[in-house]
Amino acid sequence: MGRFDSISTDPPIDVFHLTELFENDGNPSKVNLGVGVFQDENGKTPTLPVVRSVEQSMAQDLTLDKNYLKSVGLDSFCQACLKLVLGEQSSSIIENRACSIQGLSGTGCLTIGLEFLYRNGYKIGYISSPTWSNHLSIMQAIGFDVKRYRYWNKEKLNLDIDGLLQDLQDAPENSVILLHACAHNPTGCDPTREQWQQISDVIKQRKLFPFFDFAYQGFSTGDLDQDAWPIRYFADHQKHELLVAQSFSKNFSLYNERVGHLTGVFSSRDIIPKFRSQLTTIIRRIYSNPPAHGAHIVATILCNPTLYSEWKNNVRTMFERIQSMRQLFYTKLKQLGTPGNWDHIITQHGMIAFTGLNPRQCQTLLQQHHIYLMSDGRINICAITQKNIDQISKSFYEVITT
Ligand code: PLP
Repeated sequence: MGRFDSISTDPPIDVFHLTELFENDGNPSKVNLGVGVFQDENGKTPTLPVVRSVEQSMAQDLTLDKNYLKSVGLDSFCQACLKLVLGEQSSSIIENRACSIQGLSGTGCLTIGLEFLYRNGYKIGYISSPTWSNHLSIMQAIGFDVKRYRYWNKEKLNLDIDGLLQDLQDAPENSVILLHACAHNPTGCDPTREQWQQISDVIKQRKLFPFFDFAYQGFSTGDLDQDAWPIRYFADHQKHELLVAQSFSKNFSLYNERVGHLTGVFSSRDIIPKFRSQLTTIIRRIYSNPPAHGAHIVATILCNPTLYSEWKNNVRTMFERIQSMRQLFYTKLKQLGTPGNWDHIITQHGMIAFTGLNPRQCQTLLQQHHIYLMSDGRINICAITQKNIDQISKSFYEVITT
């Protein structure tokens, strides 16, 4: 009898399970709309041209070694990321109230940021309903009492701003409110600036703590500064204390390099050394220190004006592909006369579209049409190509009309 004979198997992670089903499907016209990575017209997740060129020069650079980084990461990377998120003119940076930590991409930065909050007395966490599934898992594993705020209006296929504001109004003081800064996953539905102002007011009035998840800078409007607007409004205009978990998986296409950045903005510069010391302890215990390769790439690009402008063009190219596939999908659904209002396909933001299909329709798409998508109807818009668009839209038409 072995020690572990009686342990249980965890339930599969939905998106990995979907990929497995897709890979085992022998049908040549199968399409996977499930996985949330950018894909080009050929279905490939490209390395950005600017990243390739930096990697080529790094390969020749004999000053780069493989020594450990500090637990809180590479200084040049951290300084550049702070400006990218808060803006060059940020009063939080000028007043030295902003702190910067390199972390293991978005997931890692959310984890260490939430660990910091939990050990300092923040025990209740609010996530949007719906949200990216890892928000729930990370918060629960740390020990948070996790609650949900309303976000998606199923009938109107848009943001339930009244429900959201009411739920924040009812939240206990010091609850952590996890917010998607832009390109909300999975609804693609972002608050307007006026709505962000309302959200900020309630958070302030109710003494809640905002934690922004910033995984899609550049993917919502195509403009890096505009996508950062809610964070800058909260930090510099409204003087909130806050955290931001920034991921470079999507906008630098550095998925497996695990490059991320955690920003803390505080009311006083005196908090910074305490925050850094606590984060050092948290990181030391979990993974000791972060990897350097991806951070060097990002720092090199952000610190060099020519490379920076090249990167912005690369982000713009990805954004434009997303927009054109949204438009194409919308047009095809309309041309087929698919019942329903499909405006949300072109008004939503980012890579993920929330189609509004129900679980039964999603199941039929999978079983009868070999189109794989999550049961809540979310799809990765970049998985659409000129080659598969007709098959996808006709299949949608059929499951909706039969
Ligand atoms: N936050 C959201 C909303 C996401 O959709 C993702 C990735 O899909 C992430 C964070 C973080 O991803 P990563 O850990 O790869 O940076």
